[in-house]
Amino acid sequence: MTEHDYNKLKEAGKVSSEALAYSRSVIKPGRKLIDIAEEIEKFIEDKGFSQSFPVNLSRNEEAAHYTPEYSDSRVVGDKDVIKVDLGARHGTYLTDCAATVCMDGEYSKLIEASEKALENAISLVKAGRKINEIGKEIERTAKSYGYSTIKNLGGHGIEEHELHAGIFIPNFDNGDNTELEEDAVIAIEPFLTTGGGYVVDGDSLQIFQGVSEKMPRSAEAREALSVITGTFSTYPFAMRWLIKRMAEEFRARKAIAELITIGDLDTFPVLTEKSGGIVAQSEKTLLVRKDSCDIIT
Ligand code: MN
Ligand code: MN
Repeated sequence: MTEHDYNKLKEAGKVSSEALAYSRSVIKPGRKLIDIAEEIEKFIEDKGFSQSFPVNLSRNEEAAHYTPEYSDSRVVGDKDVIKVDLGARHGTYLTDCAATVCMDGEYSKLIEASEKALENAISLVKAGRKINEIGKEIERTAKSYGYSTIKNLGGHGIEEHELHAGIFIPNFDNGDNTELEEDAVIAIEPFLTTGGGYVVDGDSLQIFQGVSEKMPRSAEAREALSVITGTFSTYPFAMRWLIKRMAEEFRARKAIAELITIGDLDTFPVLTEKSGGIVAQSEKTLLVRKDSCDIIT
């Protein structure tokens, strides 16, 4: 990685960790989730950065991919366990980080365990480290606290332009002995749960990503495609972002349905813990070095 690339990534990483700290001050019981998400996104934009993806505020048994809907009326509950997952983007340089906050103390041990799992995993990161050894350590830590890890979610490589690129870093020993490469950017993200440890697609779908520019038939879908390619590019976006940029809500929703049908969009439905377990997540972006790693977020 060139010095220039490294500096851009470091700047984005600094803003991401500041945004995560800021999110703790705005998540309060009774507050609307949409206000919180917009405040965090504004925090990142006010620093001159874009979003790697819409701010995720997945709650309780939701593990990932819940970002508030357009005119979402939901509020933070008194007992909610909320995963804040966000990333500042500097041009094509993406970062990704997450922390879990709880409104009462009931699941603070679960959160502590996910943070410890991340810390222990980070201590193993260096060039040549096998990725199943990282997963094994995450699961060992989770079990030492009495929790399961989520087997079908994990960390990943990050490349310029692409948030999920190359390797998948498991949260258990999946036998994959691929080695980490020096200078690779990766995200490690233990998901721990009181449940069985698998996520399934939920009903809500709020996050999309442009993957093709095949021209749709209808006027509204053409307008949406032009917003997507012109504003969101190939990075994930939220339905509420698109609705704000189009004249009417129903046109945006109709357009999205058409663009999905013709294959222009990837979709990221909310992922829910199958057995209804509460989920905590901790995540950081790292740069792999010869004997250790740099913490980017
Ligand atoms: Mn990630
Ligand atoms: Mn993330």
